[in-house]
Amino acid sequence: MSEQENKNPISTSTDQEPPKPKKKQRPAPEKIIPHSKDMDATKHRVHPRFVTGKYQNIRVFSMYAIMVFFLILPWIRWDGRQAILFNVIEPKFYIFGATFMPQDFYFFAFVFIIAAMTLFMVTVYAGRVWCGYACPQTIYVHLYQHIEKWIIGERNKRIKFDKEPWSVSKAAKLLAVHAIWLLISAITALTFIALITGTDYLFFNGATPFFMGWGKMTWIFFLLITFVTQTNAGYMREHMCVHICPYGRFQSVMFDKDTLIVSYDYERGEPRGARKKGTHPEGYGDCVDCSMCVQVCPTGIDIRDGLQVECIQCAACIDACNEIMDKVGYPRGLIRYTTERQLVEKQKTKVISPRIFAYIFVLGACITAATLVAVGRSPLEMEIRHDRKQLSTVGRDGLIENSYVLKIVNKTNEKQIYKVKLEPVEGLTLRSRFKQLPLQANEPYDLPVSIFGDASKITASSTPITITVYTEDGQYSASREDVFLYEQKSKNKP
Ligand code: SF4
Ligand code: SF4
Repeated sequence: MSEQENKNPISTSTDQEPPKPKKKQRPAPEKIIPHSKDMDATKHRVHPRFVTGKYQNIRVFSMYAIMVFFLILPWIRWDGRQAILFNVIEPKFYIFGATFMPQDFYFFAFVFIIAAMTLFMVTVYAGRVWCGYACPQTIYVHLYQHIEKWIIGERNKRIKFDKEPWSVSKAAKLLAVHAIWLLISAITALTFIALITGTDYLFFNGATPFFMGWGKMTWIFFLLITFVTQTNAGYMREHMCVHICPYGRFQSVMFDKDTLIVSYDYERGEPRGARKKGTHPEGYGDCVDCSMCVQVCPTGIDIRDGLQVECIQCAACIDACNEIMDKVGYPRGLIRYTTERQLVEKQKTKVISPRIFAYIFVLGACITAATLVAVGRSPLEMEIRHDRKQLSTVGRDGLIENSYVLKIVNKTNEKQIYKVKLEPVEGLTLRSRFKQLPLQANEPYDLPVSIFGDASKITASSTPITITVYTEDGQYSASREDVFLYEQKSKNKP
């Protein structure tokens, strides 16, 4: 434990006066301080103290609700099958009642753009709420640190434990921590893979035990995701946020004077210093220099140094400081959610700005486009491919033949029976291998068809044609245009 952590900042002794307050330079409020060299993953391990409070309650609820949702996601059923399934082998994505095939994947481009724009807009106004309350990295790190606390103990014990020489008890505790981490990592990997292969293949494949029925790729992905989860949440932790995550890097570009940030009230807190309980020595600010805000920080920074790139805005320092303020009888909020305009310029935060209109406009345009695409999705997909090898041939009967392949996909969730017809053109007739084509739900089929032309009635070298595929009941239909080609030299052949 550091010297700072050992001292009691709220002294009850009456024979000692607190030392003279020291003036510190105020950190520039508009500047996000880059990460310090001390945050090197190989040299520095942060053991945060666990704290309770209003923000931590919200945080814990939101984090574990997201985690539970993720874990139950592959087990939700819809119309008798897995509700969310990203089958990359077929490839088909099932999202509740909708089925997305490769030709629909541009729809996901809209989804990603909307998600990114929403994240940018939220960051401009609410800062890094995603990092503190919903990011999977933060959720897993919090959970893994909780396990460490459960087996080894609170912060001080974990710091001491790291420095202890090896013993049977230390090895047993470490083994227990790693075994539980590994179990959670394996469950995470299984959940991910179940969203791709389906729970039926993964768990109910007939083999005993179930994993004996897995293919080579399933094993590779299972081991890979388990390893990545274990490494990220168990060892990389805050270094992932500081050194690797691009969002943490570019957030400084999005922050402005009206962005909500976790801030230390420098004017109120400084000069900081220890004091007798229930007193407020002259010349001192409200910060009793207890270091609790540093001890609870999962990234190991001191928020009193100003806004730093490592700060994931988890608000643990707010809850910790509020608890101290309650103990010393000062008002809460020495560290609080505020904006630079409010804290430094003593003005009201501006919510309405040209920036918000720009975000709303772009976001609205993307949502409209995605909705139109989703609504306009045809339940029957059809394309015509003209046979390129032989555009037109002449049969013994003198008829000119053009061959095509109709690529038909039943995108409904029921079996459909399709028929094919050629929109009438004088001298042209369509022949198909099947009179009716039954297709199961989401089944694709390449149907070869031919169009025959009567040479005495076809004069143009290229005649526009329209082929229609339709269901027997007339509910679904799709038409596509192509051409019927007639090479003049074929006219003179016997
Ligand atoms: S400085 Fe405060 S809000 Fe930022 S990461 Fe540390 S504890 Fe969380
Ligand atoms: S800001 Fe609050 S928690 Fe941090 S050292 Fe000062 S009094 Fe303690």
